[in-house]
This record gives sequence, structure tokens and C-alpha cells, in this order.
Amino acid sequence: GVHSARQFVWWYNGHPDGRSLNLDLNSTDTAVILGQGNVALDVARILLRSTTELAKTDIASHALAALEESSIRKVYLVGRRGPVQAACTAKELREVLGIKDLFVHIKEADLHKTLADEEEMKNSRIQRRVYELLSKAATSASSHPISGQRELHFVFFRKPDRFFESDEKRGHVAGVHFEKTILKGVGSGRQIAAGTGQYEGIDCGMVLKSIGYKSVAVDGLPFDHQKGVVPNVGGRVLSDTSGDPTLLENGLYVSGWLKRGPTGIIATNLYCAEETVASISEDLEQGALASKSKFTKPGREGLLQLLDDRNVRVIQFNAWEKIDSEEKKRGILRNKPREKLTTWEELLKAAI
Ligand code: NAP
Repeated sequence: GVHSARQFVWWYNGHPDGRSLNLDLNSTDTAVILGQGNVALDVARILLRSTTELAKTDIASHALAALEESSIRKVYLVGRRGPVQAACTAKELREVLGIKDLFVHIKEADLHKTLADEEEMKNSRIQRRVYELLSKAATSASSHPISGQRELHFVFFRKPDRFFESDEKRGHVAGVHFEKTILKGVGSGRQIAAGTGQYEGIDCGMVLKSIGYKSVAVDGLPFDHQKGVVPNVGGRVLSDTSGDPTLLENGLYVSGWLKRGPTGIIATNLYCAEETVASISEDLEQGALASKSKFTKPGREGLLQLLDDRNVRVIQFNAWEKIDSEEKKRGILRNKPREKLTTWEELLKAAI
């Protein structure tokens, strides 16, 4: 009953390696999500939105079928810090708060801001917007859910301590034990959650851990284990973590979360890739790559040969386009943008 949000996201998005996730959505009415970032919100939205609406999206069919049978009506989104520090962004928060017929609960006392919170908000438009949306949701909500209404509870200042095991269903989760927290300043306006020694439990039959990501090191590649990134300047890989820009790994570049850490929306990754590509172009123009290499580079042909030698099956762009059009064609029959192919066999068959 305890899963990572990543597994759950792969499952509902039809990733072939995620479709066999053993989810039990029928034996409980309550799920706890740990973390309050955008992934946590995405996951809450999938659990709470009506399946009639989900049916019109490109959600994987196996997930839609399971959600149609789901007995989950109540979702707790639990953060270890306060509403000012919630890691989500406004657009994503608005989407979850906008779910039809949803009862939203936020304790008014949790919305109390300290001077340090005010200071944090002054410096971040996103935090201000998120806080405003949460405050508005807290005051405009009715005090009790009406019978059968789905519920979303934002719980702040609680950090997970341990899971309770069910008595009836051994090996299955029955709740989460949380330690209450307070915020502690750690300089430069940042506040972290500190435990208070007081505890409280929430009963539930499913837990989704949504506490962010950390890249893993690639063998032979410089890696900053603390930050979980490959040290770089503008995407140019550095041979160690000292930040000395003269220590370049010539001809090696990095982009995305491996370059700057696991943050940002899709557009952030676009800008990030543009910066790396600009570094490559600049190095090419200045001859920095050609002059220092003593080997002739086999380029794309060499890469394809290497993949072939290693028996890696490669799907080219035109094959991907065939998959895309097959999915869209199947989608038309079901009145949705696409019907995803969710096994490797089906994908390879469509790619031929
Ligand atoms: P995230 O934004 O880093 O949020 C992680 C959450 O987990 C935070 O609330 C964090 O609290 C909490 N957390 C971390 N460690 C914890 C611990 N040990 N115990 C309890 N709580 C802990 O991560 P994410 O939601 O996985 O998202 C990753 C990135 O993808 C983000 O930049 C997000 O915006 C982006 N994303 C974007 C979209 C979109 O554009 N629609 C959708 C999904 C994801 P603290 O703040 O206290 O650390």
C-alpha cells in the first residue's frame, strides 16, 4: 500500500514498465500523499477527479478502469512545512482546487504567517500566489463535506515518522504516524522543518511518497553527490565540484535535471537545453572541440554502430511518428486525444 508517486505516475500515464503496478484502490476510502510539490498535486488530481472527465483525457485505459472501481474518496496532502513553503506552483494548485464538487479542507490556524514567512513571500511571486490560493480555498470552503463528496485535506507542519501496519491485512499499510513540526530559520531567509516531539496519526489504506527526485551518478562521470548534479558551467561539464571553470571535460555537456537539479516546469527544461546547445555551438565555432581531439569522431554513424554492437533496438523518429498516429487513431474511437499503447510489444509492432 506504500508506493512512490513516480510509480503511480508511470502507471496512469501508460509507461510500459509501470502498468503492472499492484495498486489496491478498492479496500480503502483514504489515501495519504507525502509532499506538496506539483507531482503530489498531479497524483491527488487523478485520485479525486471524476472518471467521466478523466475518460476524455489520454489517461491509460488500465488506469481509468481501476479508477472507475476506486473507493478512495479522501486524500490528505501532507507537507512538513507551512502553506508559504508549499512546493507546488499556482497553475497546478488552481487545477486541483478547481475539481468539481470537491470539499477542500485547510486549517485556518496553519495559515498564520510569521515575520520570516512574510520575508520569504516578499522575495517570491510564486509563494505569494500559492499562499493566496490556499487562503482563498480555506475561507471559501464549506465547513463540512456533504455526503459522498470527495475530500482533499491539506495538512501542514507534519513530517512522516513511520507507517502503521494493518491488523487485518498483514504487510499492508493502515496509517501514517507524523511528527508535528515548527519552522526554524537557517539563514538566507530559508526555513526548515524541525520536529517538536509531538505525534499524530492519519489512518489510510494507501500512501504515495512524492518527496522529489535526485539524480544518480553515471559511472565515470564527475558527480556532485550532495546536490545530485553533474558539475557544469552553462552545460559544459567540469571535472570536479570545485567550480573552477578551467577544469573542463572537453566535449562533454549536460542538460536538464542532471545539470541543475530536479526543479522546474517543462519550459524551464527548454531554456536549460537551449543554454547547453548555445555552449556546444560556441565551442564548435571556436574550434574548441575539433582542435583538442586526437581521434576522428564517428558521429551519428558511430553511435548507431555502437548501439547495434550492444544489441540495443533503436526506434527512429519516423517509427515514433507511426506509434503517435496509431495512438491517435485508436483515441478517435474512444473520444479521447489518444489511446496509449502500454506494452513494449504493441509499441514495437506499431513502429514497424
Ligand atoms: P518537489 O517540487 O521538489 O516537491 C517535493 C515535496 O516533498 C516538497 O513538499 C518537500 O518539502 C517534500 N519533501 C522532500 N523531502 C521530504 C522528506 N524527507 N520528508 C517529507 N517531505 C519531504 O518535487 P516534485 O513534486 O516531485 O516535482 C519535481 C519538479 O517537477 C518540480 O520542480 C515540479 O514543479 C516539477 N513538476 C512540474 C509539473 C508541471 O509543470 N505541471 C508537474 C510535475 C512536476 P520541502 O519543501 O520541505 O523540502
